[in-house]
Amino acid sequence: MDRVYNFSAGPSCLPEEVLKECAAEMLNYNGTGQSVMEMSHRSAAYKPIITEAEAKVRKLMNVPDNYKILFLQGGGSTQFAMIPLNLGLKFKKAAYIRTGVWAKKAAAEAKKFITVDEIASSEDKGFSYIPRVEKVTGDYDYVYICFNNTIMGTHYEYIPDTGDIPLVADISSCILSEPLDVTKFGLLYAGAQKNLGPAGVTVVIIRDDLITETPLAGTPTMLTYKTHVDGESMYNTPPCYAIYVVGKVLNWIEKNGGAEGMGKRNHEKADYLYNYLDNSSFYHATAEKGSRSLMNVPFLTKYTGEEADAINKKFVKEAAAAGLANLGGHRLVGGMRASIYNAMTLEGVKKLVEFMEKFAKEN
Ligand SMILES: *Cc1c(COP(=O)(O)O)cnc(C)c1O
Repeated sequence: MDRVYNFSAGPSCLPEEVLKECAAEMLNYNGTGQSVMEMSHRSAAYKPIITEAEAKVRKLMNVPDNYKILFLQGGGSTQFAMIPLNLGLKFKKAAYIRTGVWAKKAAAEAKKFITVDEIASSEDKGFSYIPRVEKVTGDYDYVYICFNNTIMGTHYEYIPDTGDIPLVADISSCILSEPLDVTKFGLLYAGAQKNLGPAGVTVVIIRDDLITETPLAGTPTMLTYKTHVDGESMYNTPPCYAIYVVGKVLNWIEKNGGAEGMGKRNHEKADYLYNYLDNSSFYHATAEKGSRSLMNVPFLTKYTGEEADAINKKFVKEAAAAGLANLGGHRLVGGMRASIYNAMTLEGVKKLVEFMEKFAKEN
């Protein structure tokens, strides 16, 4: 089988040229006679891989000097605990905005350690929109948002004003998808496997004043940001190979216009797909206008109930046979979802719409 157009929500498609470079260097990286998978993370050959990846994140995201960039393990989900453990210190209280599965999971984990105030929610309408929270005040150690909701396909088109309260955002599924003003946030994090590389590494961008030597009592060493700041992401063995691939993806992003270039490309793709969905009598997008993700586009057909289940299955199966892979919706939501991360091409989206048109006519 030829390579497919891969619409997976994560791990997801990577730029083909990155995969080819990795393949070419697999047995012998840069004349070392070793694969990057085989070399010591403390070696002279490996050191530039991690330092350049860090510098590239800093450059492409315009990260100021008073922020540290870390490459950690444990996925996005480990951040659900690290954030309250390290930031929930003064008031032992944080504000969370409930916008879907990932925001809920983060809040549930934080509740194990601190008090959580849910200051807004979009659960009333099945998480199909982002609540408008203009201004947050109160005795909070931080305010937490999930900037792009991978499962529901919603995205913040504004940044809540939290004044002096640090704003924390999960950008796992939208990192470097368009320009973002890092200075508005105290902490940003993203698991790499959506938009930045393979699973196994999580990028954390944390402002200096939030890095504490004394997190909540009992916090493990590995869950203390300071440990990884002091160790320059090498307190223990980092996910060496994943970081190497992330570095290559970052180079690819830079070559293709950086965050601005990605934004332009992603708007083109998303506009093309939403425009088709909004003008279709067969399909409809589930996320409301004004809250729609550029990266994850869930949609349904006009069918309901058991008929819908059957038609959705048929769609996913026939799409896969046509070389359009992984279009099934999240198991909690059903329907279909097209994830169109940075590496997905406009050509891929056009092929998808072509297939959707044909399927609609036949069904
Ligand atoms: C995938 C995802 C996560 C969870 O990431 P893991 O690396 O699997 O722990 C968290 N938040 C968002 C927004 C995601 O898309």
